Amino acid sequence: MDMQRSFLDRLFESGLLIETGVDGLYGRGGRFEDVIAAFERLIDRFGGADGAEAIRFPPGMNRAYFEKSGYMRSFPQLAGTVHSFCGNELDHVSLLKCMDADEDWTAEQKATDIVLTPAACYPLYPTVAKRGNLPAGGGLYDLQSYCFRHEPSNDPARQQLFRMREYVRMGTQADVTEFRQTWMDRGVEMMKAVGLPVEIDVANDPFFGRAGKMLANNQRDQNLKFELLIPITSTTSPTACMSFNYHQDAFGTKWGLNLEDGSVAHTACVGFGLERIALALFHHHGLDTEQWPASVRQTLWG
Ligand code: ATP
Ligand code: MG
Repeated sequence: MDMQRSFLDRLFESGLLIETGVDGLYGRGGRFEDVIAAFERLIDRFGGADGAEAIRFPPGMNRAYFEKSGYMRSFPQLAGTVHSFCGNELDHVSLLKCMDADEDWTAEQKATDIVLTPAACYPLYPTVAKRGNLPAGGGLYDLQSYCFRHEPSNDPARQQLFRMREYVRMGTQADVTEFRQTWMDRGVEMMKAVGLPVEIDVANDPFFGRAGKMLANNQRDQNLKFELLIPITSTTSPTACMSFNYHQDAFGTKWGLNLEDGSVAHTACVGFGLERIALALFHHHGLDTEQWPASVRQTLWG
């Protein structure tokens, strides 16, 4: 905990992150953003020749898609929903009275059609499904979005609003497992090129509750999720900076994603936690990018 707090304080003092008064919600300084931009260009260099379709969704998604995704079944504790004032002038008067009295004014807020995106790929599946069968060879998509997760923490590597860059592959089982392995190899190579020590390990998602334990065990037993871990604020429990997920045909079935021949698509996604990677770089090479090892600077800025 102390290591997390002190790293966070140093990030604030250096202006790399900017305090907002809420744990896990930060502004970013220009030098922090330069590192993220440079690392994204490195991702482009590794993945650019694969011919992925680039799509950028905003950090909010259609609530109906979110409901259908099953997110509230698995991760209710992490979800963020967008609510708005939908009343008339009389309701407005009560609202202001309530706020003036320092009472809870949020109870009257109504759910909108938008929820905050929990992972960059969530809006993709229904979007692609609407197009009809996938083309021959399946699909490959390049995504990036701010994502929200309600997990306030003073660990700078666990934020509530952070960016995830993702590639998603839809195809046969062989297509998508090969894609996942390719990116595990590339991930290790990329981190090596920027001087970061890595470890890859099997992992599970934080499924909610007692029933969730079974889902988590099942995910592990079947090697459905791997993480690329880099020590940031702890050497004993390094931080997941990339994740590699194989969904089997679960999303294909749920969303009606079919291959050219009409069979159900398998899907896999690889995600880069961009803030975590930047924080790993600052942790390992120091807060001043000018002082980073020449080879690292060369890889990032040429
Ligand atoms: P963790 O195990 O640390 O909770 P996760 O397994 O829940 O992370 P994923 O759901 O696989 O993470 O999300 C993809 C990537 O997004 C992660 O590999 C990580 O780099 C990044 N990420 C996830 N949660 C956060 C967060 N709260 N703050 C910053 N980055 C995050
Ligand atoms: Mg994890």
